[in-house]
Amino acid sequence: MDLQTKALHVGYDKDSQGTMAVPIYQTTAYEFNSLEHAADLFALKESGNIYTRLNNPTTEVFEKRFASLEGGEAAVATASGMSAIFFAIVNIAKAGDNIICANQLYGGTLTQTVHTLKRFGIETRFFDVHNEKELENLIDENTKAIFFESLTNPSIDVADLEALSAIANKHNIITIVDNTVATPVLCRPFEWGVDVVVHSSSKYTTGQGLAIGGIVVERKNLNEKLINNPRYEEFNTPDESYHGLIYTQSGYPAFSLRARISLLRDLGAVVSPFNAWLFIQGMETLTLRMKEHSKNALGVAKFLEAHPKVLKVNYPGLQSNVNYKNAQKYFDGGMSSGLLSFELASLEDATKVVNATKLFSLVTNIGDSKSIITHPASTTHQQLSKEELEACGVPSGLIRLSCGLESVEDLIADLSQALEVL
Ligand SMILES: *Cc1c(COP(=O)(O)O)cnc(C)c1O
Repeated sequence: MDLQTKALHVGYDKDSQGTMAVPIYQTTAYEFNSLEHAADLFALKESGNIYTRLNNPTTEVFEKRFASLEGGEAAVATASGMSAIFFAIVNIAKAGDNIICANQLYGGTLTQTVHTLKRFGIETRFFDVHNEKELENLIDENTKAIFFESLTNPSIDVADLEALSAIANKHNIITIVDNTVATPVLCRPFEWGVDVVVHSSSKYTTGQGLAIGGIVVERKNLNEKLINNPRYEEFNTPDESYHGLIYTQSGYPAFSLRARISLLRDLGAVVSPFNAWLFIQGMETLTLRMKEHSKNALGVAKFLEAHPKVLKVNYPGLQSNVNYKNAQKYFDGGMSSGLLSFELASLEDATKVVNATKLFSLVTNIGDSKSIITHPASTTHQQLSKEELEACGVPSGLIRLSCGLESVEDLIADLSQALEVL
């Protein structure tokens, strides 16, 4: 089935009323048929609804539909992109373990790994996303995950998915890829050997800046990598917190099962059914929107590249860009999403231009249908030191744009008048 058809139909088979739109099951809990039925659900002998912290019929449509767009096996929706990332990592790493992350990361992921995971005893090591050798040198027997973004935010690099997952596979380590900016419309990391995909559905999935949410998706047959893998002992030994359940022997996709019945159960960062419903609405037009976002961003990038005041434009759809080859290889039709950044000479210049735009809104978000302008060094990346900023590719004159769905002529006209102030 084509991606657009899946986005409209997978996971929902009409309820008893024949409702065309997926209903919002706005409920906390569900009645059991009998005490035996309740016991069977808790014992995983039968699948069904227990409590919305664990599962919900509306959220389940979102999970099944999104998993199918990614070509994955199962998914767990979470309250935000940050909680999706946290769950994906702590599902496999514990105190004393390490994970290896690309330098080029979303600001929140960087602070989560460097500061918060450290407090949990998990060490993060960093490699340059364009340097596989560096990655391989950091691996040891306590390495539990290799984490990177397919299309990085805000540095706009494209990871060599095939090369990085080949190294992970050689050492039997799970790869987690944040596919938020590319979306499954442009890129499906599982096709290149990646194991787990995470998303912030607050961005292109909702598409109109309506709700915060996230999702963790596991690939088909991930159980094979987990079974008897000494790195992932917790998946092959009894879980005391779930009456001795051994995840890889449960008959379920083990990664998602553990994330749901252990992490969602205990940490509770669950998405609301209403927000899951908004994501379902967004997915219906995701493929159409991604084509327009990509077209607009390419038009804006070409304009900026030709502008005398602009030092550098980062957009993988430009032939001059170092990521052009990877974008052509990994992204459908070479479409490169709506995110681009450009560099001005100084913090002062960047401040003037950001303040002079009228159509672009100054907002710390991406993936909205309305165009957005951000200055990462003073906002999303403000908590990072100068060294951390440079390591993740965010110089102080860098401006990030998220090109929305307005006409490209209007977007260019707005930037053109703003650059006049320099
Ligand atoms: C926004 C974003 C996140 C965090 O998602 P939230 O839903 O805001 O928690 C993670 N990764 C990337 C690439 C993002 O753009």
